[in-house]
This record gives sequence, structure tokens and C-alpha cells, in this order.
Amino acid sequence: MPQDATMLFAQSDSEALPKISPQFHADSAPSHANTSPADVLWAKCLAIIRDNINPQVFRTWFENIRALSWNGSKLLIQVPSQFYYEWIEEHYGALMRTVLSQILGAGAELQYEVIVDKSEDTTLQDRTIRLPAMRQQNPANASATQAGLPFAQHQSVPQNFPTYLNQTYVFENFIRGESNQLAAAAAIAIADNPGKTKYNPLVLYGSTGLGKTHLVQAIGNRAQQIHRNIRVFYTNSERFTMEYVNAIQNGKINEFTNFYRSIDILIVDDIQFFSGKEKTQDNFFHTFNALHQSGKQIILTSDKPPKEIQGVDDRLISRFQWGLTADVQPPDYEMRLAILQRKAADEGTQLPGDVIEYLARNITSSVRELEGCLISLLAKVSLDGRELTIDLAREVVKGIASEHPSKEISVKSILSAVSEHYDIALTLITGKTRKQEVVLARQTAMYILKQHTQLSLKSIGSHFGGRDHTTVIHSCNMVKNYLETDARTQTAMGAILEKLGLKRP
Ligand code: ADP
Ligand code: MG
Repeated sequence: MPQDATMLFAQSDSEALPKISPQFHADSAPSHANTSPADVLWAKCLAIIRDNINPQVFRTWFENIRALSWNGSKLLIQVPSQFYYEWIEEHYGALMRTVLSQILGAGAELQYEVIVDKSEDTTLQDRTIRLPAMRQQNPANASATQAGLPFAQHQSVPQNFPTYLNQTYVFENFIRGESNQLAAAAAIAIADNPGKTKYNPLVLYGSTGLGKTHLVQAIGNRAQQIHRNIRVFYTNSERFTMEYVNAIQNGKINEFTNFYRSIDILIVDDIQFFSGKEKTQDNFFHTFNALHQSGKQIILTSDKPPKEIQGVDDRLISRFQWGLTADVQPPDYEMRLAILQRKAADEGTQLPGDVIEYLARNITSSVRELEGCLISLLAKVSLDGRELTIDLAREVVKGIASEHPSKEISVKSILSAVSEHYDIALTLITGKTRKQEVVLARQTAMYILKQHTQLSLKSIGSHFGGRDHTTVIHSCNMVKNYLETDARTQTAMGAILEKLGLKRP
């Protein structure tokens, strides 16, 4: 066991560890003419880690770790938070040990330095004692954050903070028009002055594929450029929930809380999925308050205006409305033309006038669909050698339309399809009986209604003897869980959706 406040990986652990493949060859390492021995060793470790994990995971959790020093037996690396360190340890501890034993050799150790943000945390002393494996950041950096100074104190913020930002979503490739004018203007103002405008929180809402995620990511990317080393963190309500649940299960709730409170710009996408998750909402409520009070920027998106989100506590909804709520509407015809022209140019091509007009007239609901259409059109041209004509455009549009049937499925047809599939009378499904198979059919029907109609939770409940919205949320969550884990539910759902024409055989 380590004797000091460090995390050690001893070479002797290695027998029980997974085989690493492919093997790392020293001569395949990048050259490091001007880098320290620590950098070189860490680069070698990274080369193996990269080959053994998912690229997205690698980018998020490993790419930005910095090597600080190597003293011949101990490699010191720096990670941005305890949460971060523990995540790596939990998920990739075994991999790390194997890699280190290969690269550093017998008896070598890895030591993590965890950057601790003291600005909002008076329990730091406590935390350090409870987690003796951690060392604090160097005092020069700690003092700036401790003073609770705003973003200008760049030296207080680690460069390797995990952001989850996608660098391709920037303002430069976001087309502005009437449908997103207010949202885009507010987004730019916030990127320039996070936490300092009236738009805190900023809530963008609108249906899917209209550029909400693009815009909020663009804020993060631009803010990072302008305010170097600012802590921007992008997540969505589902990931927040999952991390929160994991933190509870693993007794790491303090780390979770501290991590979120150390963020300067917190972006939470798709907050409608907080619906029905009361404990998570409670935690998010406190996170929101802590960040807002200390002038940190909060940015949220939703598929509907905050006050229409069902199953979310009123006190949260009221906070969501403290700043600016801006809608993003479907693009109008001119804007659709502009988007197609721009995206085609980005792909290095130009569309004939009649093709571009045909697409702009026929794909109306979302930018994502416009993009999808353009990509399949260009694929048919470059991969299948087809000619870029209006006939080809028609074919592509037809294909896309059949993937997304626009007809609104009626409540009656959904209920009948479920009733038929399970061979249970409709009156039982909509009635009060609590027999297990009836409950499952009822929950399935509620889930499909939620997924495939525009009905509110309340009105879904009204088709089942006036059940309230929390029952509907609970049912939908149950079915969602079954769908993830239970093959029979998956098969049943597939068959019912097929019957309804919502899924191809
Ligand atoms: P949402 O989050 O609203 O569902 P996204 O932000 O994911 O939508 O946008 C879907 C796709 O459409 C993305 O690839 C995005 O880059 C693109 N997109 C949406 N709006 C615009 C726009 N105004 N200009 C350029 N691209 C856009
Ligand atoms: Mg989105």
C-alpha cells in the first residue's frame, strides 16, 4: 500500500491484468525533441491506452491529462478533479496498471495530482483527509481559485478540464435567420460575457434537429477561445442523472457535487429528460443555485418551453425562467436554401438550382433532415456514380420521408395495436386492474403514446381512467428500462411499432 498521499500502481499487480494489444513499440512513439522525460513516458502510455479504448472515451478522459514529472521511479500526472480521477480509476484502473508496468518497468509508480478548486468548498480539509490518495494542486494555482475570482484568473483553471465540447459546432458554421435570431444573438453575447449578461440561465427550446445543441456547444467553444482555460462543461440531463446515480451508489456524492460546482459555464442539453427524476432534480436544483449565486453561467435546452415540461418540480421550472428563454423555430424556405448552399459548399460541391430548390421545398421540418438529405444525395453521387439531378433528389426525399412517417398516429390505433398484440381487452388496458400482464400492456401503451404523439402526460393519463402525469412518467420509465434489458419487451415493442407503421419490418 502507498505510504504517502499518492495513488500508486505497483508492478506486481500486473499478472492478473488484461492483455494489452496491440503491443507498443518504442520506435513508434512520436518524437519529443523538446519535451521532458515525463512527457515522453506519458506519451508512450497514452499510445497504448488509445489503442485499447473507445476514441471518444480517450479524448474525454485521457487526452488532456498532463505529465508533470518523472524522478526515475515515480511518474506524476495531473487530472482536473477527484471525480475525474475516480472515474478513470474505476473504469480503467486495470488498464492503467498494465500499461504502466509495461512502460515504466518493475517497481515504478504512478502518482496523480488532483486539482482542487477551493472557491466554493469550505470542506476542503475534510475532503483531503477522506481521500488520502490525493494531492492538492500547487499552492500558487490554488490561491487564485480560493479567492473566488472570476474568469480572468486563467492560471487558476486547468487546461485539461474535460468539456465534452464538440469542436465542429461553432458560430462560424451556424446559419442565422429569423427562426433562430434571438437564440443566436443571446448565445454570442453569453460566449463573450459568461455569467455577466441578463441571460442567466439561457434556455433554448424548440423541436428536434433545429440547432439547439449546435448553438449551446458553439457558446462553449467560443467562450473557451476568448476566456482561455475557462471551465466549460457540456452534458445532458440523462448523463447528469446517470452520473448522479453512480455517485450515490459509489458513495461519491461529494465529489460529484464539488465537480459540478467548479464549473464556470454549465451546459445541460435536453432538460426535459429530468422529468420524473425527483432526486436528480433536487441535486440539480442545488447545483443550479450554487452556480447562479456565484455568477457562473448556466445554459439549458429543452424540446418545449420550461413551463410546459411535465414532471419537473415547480421551483426548478421557475429558476429556468430567471434569465432568457428563447425559442428556435424551423427554418423558413430562404433559410433552408441558405443552409443547403452552405452545407454543400462545406462538402466541396455546388447543387444545381432546381435540386436545391426541390430539397428546400420538400424538407421542411428540421435542419438535421436537410443535412441528412444532402449527405445521402452526395453519397449517391460519389459512391454510386449517380448524376446529381432532380430525379435523384426526389428519390432521396422519398426515402427520408418513409423513414419518418409524418402522419400523427391516433390514440385509438395505438391502444388497439397494444391490445391486439397482448391479446388483452382494451377496457382492461385502460381500466384499473393491477394484474401483471395488464399493467405491462398499459405501460407499453403509455410509452408509445409518449414517444409517438404530441400528447401531454396529463392527456395520456386521461385515456387510462384519469391517471395522473406521475403515473405516466413512471410507466414510461419502466418500459424504457425493460427495453434496455429485456429481450421480450424489445420484441413486443418492435412488433407493435411495426403494426402501427412506425418501424420497418
Ligand atoms: P437540436 O439540438 O435542436 O436537436 P442540433 O443542434 O443537433 O439540433 O442540429 C442538428 C444538425 O443540424 C446539426 O448537425 C447542426 O449542425 C445542424 N444545424 C442546425 N441548425 C443549424 C444552423 N442554423 N446552421 C447550420 N447548421 C445547423
Ligand atoms: Mg440536441
